[in-house]
Amino acid sequence: MSKYNQLIEELKEKSVQLIAVSKTKSEKEIMSLYEQGQKHFGENKVQELLGKYENLPKDIHWHLIGHLQSNKVKYIIPFVFLIHSVDSLKLLFEIQKQAQKINKIQDVLLQVFIAKEDSKFGLDMKELIEIMEFYQAGNFPNIQFRGLMGMATNTDDANCIATEFQNLKEHFIYIKETYFLPEYFSEISMGMSSDYKIAIENGSTMVRIGAMLFGERV
Ligand SMILES: *Cc1c(COP(=O)(O)O)cnc(C)c1O
Repeated sequence: MSKYNQLIEELKEKSVQLIAVSKTKSEKEIMSLYEQGQKHFGENKVQELLGKYENLPKDIHWHLIGHLQSNKVKYIIPFVFLIHSVDSLKLLFEIQKQAQKINKIQDVLLQVFIAKEDSKFGLDMKELIEIMEFYQAGNFPNIQFRGLMGMATNTDDANCIATEFQNLKEHFIYIKETYFLPEYFSEISMGMSSDYKIAIENGSTMVRIGAMLFGERV
């Protein structure tokens, strides 16, 4: 069995969705997974995503998983499936504006800062609550909040990683209950090649895996 099929089997058992992270990888490498049935791919740079979208089959569901600048939102809204990395109120207002222009309801996740490193993007609790208050006041008719995303500290300490993922799950439950979010607020995007098993044990519904499928990036 291929590495891909093995992973798919493992995830299916747990009802976890696989986002194949194809950043820096060639269209040919993407097509080889596509031909095995993979339809959800994740990219972290808008420019690279646009090129791949142009050239690859149109039934691919593209996920933007990296930091997104407001001035680039307009390029991806027409086709992007899910934006995992919403990390500011300003960005949300721009997504609302661009989605409204083309009459689209855009699915997004809010990226929450859970790591012990200061190099990673994400919202803190205060910012998350501020966003939810704007949402409750009816500011985002063209945005569908599907859940939260987070990245754990890059460490070998499994307990530390588990604690951070538990923390994200607690944020998820708190936000969902406090703001009466609908059924479709159901996703917790957490887990990469190195920590996806820990993420699944702690409630992940979506893992973003690159290196394990495509080999290490150079
Ligand atoms: C690159 C990346 C991943 C995948 O990491 P791997 O170690 O290759 O599995 C997941 N999430 C984000 C946000 C990334 O930028």
